[in-house]
Amino acid sequence: EVARGADYVVGIGGGKTLDTAKAVAHFLEKPMLILPTLASTDAPCTAISVIYNDDDTFNRYLFLSKNPDVVLADTRILAEQPPRFFAAGVGDGLATYFEARACFAAQRDNLILGNDGNMLKPTLIGFAIAQTCYETIKKYSAQAAFAVQKKAITAALENTIEATIYMSAVGAESGGCAAAHAIHNGMTNVHDLHGAQHGEKVVFGLFTQLVMEAAPMAEIEEVVDIAMAVGLPLTLEDLGLKHFKEAEWRKVAELACDKNDTMHNMPFTVTPDLVYDAIVATDALLHGFKRQKAMH
Ligand SMILES: [Zn+2]
Repeated sequence: EVARGADYVVGIGGGKTLDTAKAVAHFLEKPMLILPTLASTDAPCTAISVIYNDDDTFNRYLFLSKNPDVVLADTRILAEQPPRFFAAGVGDGLATYFEARACFAAQRDNLILGNDGNMLKPTLIGFAIAQTCYETIKKYSAQAAFAVQKKAITAALENTIEATIYMSAVGAESGGCAAAHAIHNGMTNVHDLHGAQHGEKVVFGLFTQLVMEAAPMAEIEEVVDIAMAVGLPLTLEDLGLKHFKEAEWRKVAELACDKNDTMHNMPFTVTPDLVYDAIVATDALLHGFKRQKAMH
């Protein structure tokens, strides 16, 4: 009732807080002002609130009638976020280009709800923003990670924050999501991974997508190098998995293929079996990269 009489809604915090504030503003039809204190997800700029169940498992995407009216990303605040949250934002941002690329190739829908109630098609400019997001993260995130360790504001940090807060959100919305986020959403059902950040699980979903696509090793290695440089966890073990249980991961694969999720934006037919095999192969591949990098 108090909120009903308010002039506008202000969201201050990380992903789930901002998603909650955006949903409140949406249902009350109030303007919304967003002040992210973490750059760990795409939440600040999107017109989407991700709804989770009480047990932290993914429920659905709630599409809002508009993006936040104001997003104030203060680099003084964001330079002081714990490095792990900064890295998680890089993880979420890394997936944007590859998911948009898949969605664009398939000519499937993006994540913008049109006035007619249907989702829109990916746009060239959305794809260009997703590309610039990846290029920016590739160029600057490793350098920015050192700045965040010292709570220092540098040009590399400013650029990376522009990529993780702004470009990643707009690129994902206008370019569309695909396998990486669908796999992430399935992974929210694995109890051992509940301590893992959204962006940390998304990056595993991204590697799985790249394996499903049989992406060139050079491309996968480039993403591995970026992820390692900012301190992202790679393998399922790194993400907190204690025991790999086949049934649990068959369920992840099945949920990732839910008809309401974005797996169907891949440019080829995806089955739960294909996703399961890709997950297992990806984890082995990431262990291999870790061994190889440790030797150098
Ligand atoms: Zn995300």
